[in-house]
Amino acid sequence: MSKVNIEVSEVQVREVRLGSITGFEGTASELVRCSHSGKIKECTRSFSQCMGCSSGNAFCQLSMIQDAAVVNHAPIGCSNDFFSFNFTYRVGQMERNLPPTNGRYFSTDIREEDTIFGATKKLEDTVREVFNRVHPNAIFITTSCASGIIGDDVEKVADDLTEELGIPIVACFCEGFKSRIWTTGFDSAYHSIVRKIVKPPRKKTNKVNIINFWGSHIFDDLLEKLGYEANYIVPFSTVKELEHISEASATIQICPTLGTYLGAALEQIYDVPEIKSPPAYGISGTDAWLRELGRVLDREKEIEEYIENAHKNIVPKIEKYREKLEGKTAYVTAGAAHGHALIALLRELGLNVQGAAIFHHDPVYDNGSFVSDVLAHVVKTYGDIKNYNVCNKQAYELVNILNRVRPDIMIARHGGMTLWGAKLGIPTLLIGDEQFSFGYEGILRYAERILETLDNKEFVTNLAKHSTMPYTKWWLQQDPFSFLGGDVYAETY
Ligand code: SF4
Repeated sequence: MSKVNIEVSEVQVREVRLGSITGFEGTASELVRCSHSGKIKECTRSFSQCMGCSSGNAFCQLSMIQDAAVVNHAPIGCSNDFFSFNFTYRVGQMERNLPPTNGRYFSTDIREEDTIFGATKKLEDTVREVFNRVHPNAIFITTSCASGIIGDDVEKVADDLTEELGIPIVACFCEGFKSRIWTTGFDSAYHSIVRKIVKPPRKKTNKVNIINFWGSHIFDDLLEKLGYEANYIVPFSTVKELEHISEASATIQICPTLGTYLGAALEQIYDVPEIKSPPAYGISGTDAWLRELGRVLDREKEIEEYIENAHKNIVPKIEKYREKLEGKTAYVTAGAAHGHALIALLRELGLNVQGAAIFHHDPVYDNGSFVSDVLAHVVKTYGDIKNYNVCNKQAYELVNILNRVRPDIMIARHGGMTLWGAKLGIPTLLIGDEQFSFGYEGILRYAERILETLDNKEFVTNLAKHSTMPYTKWWLQQDPFSFLGGDVYAETY
């Protein structure tokens, strides 16, 4: 178990803290075995086409706190994701009946001369300007490669301005160059929230924290029936709400890749128990997750009744979808734990998962428990996945693989990946809302969307006829892992 230390300004990157990797090819069972042995080792790529950045993932969580502002202490190019997060923020406001407002995102616009003379004065001026312009209840400063390399003392600026302005000015250290695992940025955002926003509990409440992105509010009914109240964090929270997440009765993570650090931090520092179980995707995962929820919330009897009822009403409906989908082939590309959950879901529906390209791998989560290991749960419950690839969005590998396996459907979790399936004429399904497929009902919802996608091939068929690939025939004939070096097994077994 990693020890959360809020005395230090930065959280350790996932490579160091959890031993996470971005390169692997083999079978899922080999990866699980290797992970649980504690000897996993990164296979490195000699060619990398693209990378994500921790700064973007930190921003993803901080940018939708309703009454906070974010100052990106960076060259202006690092702000290219402001637009897309503002779009998500605006759509989420409509879904939640919140007044429409733009995200309060700012950049210090670090320039060449600043990298020589330092940019802390510019940062101070920007934070004061933001405070006077938008009157936020907190300002987060996200760092960048440039501010990290020139060594600006962002923590000192934040502390001094907290005193001067009377609201929390919070440094969030998320320089892109520091970690290959861009989900480290989630941890950076949560570390800054737990350090500087969350207060010790006044009393325990019946609230249950749900660490999620900006998904639908599917937990309200279930928790209400159990006498609890759902508290969705971090996007769309207010600063005041975040101050009191230490008072909750439990923490649910919609995806351990997202919430591993915050779940562990709240448990270790404030005794808020984290639900340690594979997330509720597929029947077996949902059963296990509900039972753990019932145990932690002291509602075991009610949960058993709920499970019995759902099995009676929903499992026969799932059976009908299975008959329609049995034997169809699928390929998955997604972030780690959610990708594993999607594999569980597809297997539950009888699809043959031919392989998966999953963006990174955490051999263990911050709670130190292998019970939360979704991939291990999938392998144990549904059997092995032969062509399992840990691939940080390297499109050249993905296209090569898809061109070989040609699945009936590709399931993607990120917008930038869907076009590769579509260009090859493979029906591709993208669902951004993790909650959509959660629980028993989620299996039905997802099955319906898969059938719709399989029934509407016309668009991708035509697209494939009229589009070209940037990859040559030569590359498509090569081993997709030609640039992936090192042997994770040879050195660990
Ligand atoms: S922080 Fe670094 S890696 Fe991230 S966008 Fe800026 S320059 Fe790129």
